[in-house]
Amino acid sequence: MELPLGNISADVLKNWCQPYGIDAAVLRLDRLHPEVSGNKWFKLQGYLTAARASGKRTLLTFGGAWSNHLLATAAAGAALGLRTAAVVRGEAPSLPSPTLQDAAALGMRLFFSSRAAYRNKELPPEVWKELDPNETLVIPEGGYGPDGASGAARILDHGELDKYTHILSAVGTGTTLAGLAQAAGPGQRVIGISVLRDPSAPDAVRALLPEERYGLVEMRHTFHFGGYARHTPELLGFMNGWYRDTGIPSDFVYTGKLFYAADALVRDGHFAPGSRLLLIHSGGLQGNRSLPPGTLIF
Ligand SMILES: *Cc1c(COP(=O)(O)O)cnc(C)c1O
Repeated sequence: MELPLGNISADVLKNWCQPYGIDAAVLRLDRLHPEVSGNKWFKLQGYLTAARASGKRTLLTFGGAWSNHLLATAAAGAALGLRTAAVVRGEAPSLPSPTLQDAAALGMRLFFSSRAAYRNKELPPEVWKELDPNETLVIPEGGYGPDGASGAARILDHGELDKYTHILSAVGTGTTLAGLAQAAGPGQRVIGISVLRDPSAPDAVRALLPEERYGLVEMRHTFHFGGYARHTPELLGFMNGWYRDTGIPSDFVYTGKLFYAADALVRDGHFAPGSRLLLIHSGGLQGNRSLPPGTLIF
């Protein structure tokens, strides 16, 4: 798929952290595509390479009704002429979410699975009736795994990013953060803002990295706002204020929490004067469609 990689820019943030002697920029992966989350596209590249190498013609993956990963997989498969299918968490809804409607319109076959079966990783029996296991590449939920991390490592190829001292990114499965830690240059630290209440994210990141690379990683666990996809009026208010001040939209699941955390860490004096921060805008804006209209000003 030809996405406009040239659109990725590191936009300098003015009037935010300069009073603290800190410079900052946002790496705009959200500019890649309105629906395909920037980091998901990078993670998928590792799996698409694996599919090509092994001659697999179908991609099968997993996700919830608003999953950025599921929609990105549908779009990547459609662009490359691969069949796509997904096991969706929860019973088939009478009105599918816009995300699922978009995925289906891109040709993705959706198999619904009860929450209990999904949790136990039981596949609906129709899956292997309709798909040929020998032709199918199974991509873990969220693109988690070494192939996803090696794809995400390429994120830092875009722009002259060596000058930054700290790279900050939202963490779900941890694959993107692992890729960033793989690619970080000398002297760079990688800070992960977990969006999960579950504190096991560091283990997931660590499993994808050699020990010396994991040493570059710092995880933050106090910015999840109640857990995955949870939000509060404070978070939504912050996202609107951030947009007003910087012109940068964010999503309430990942990047809103990232920007909120960055703001709090700067105000707390976490970064020494002279630090240069690179905030990864991983995309995800399509998920804001699950909020009541008018909640956000962008
Ligand atoms: C999935 C996602 C993340 C988290 O990436 P992981 O590699 O799962 O940690 C961050 N931001 C956005 C917009 C995402 O869609």
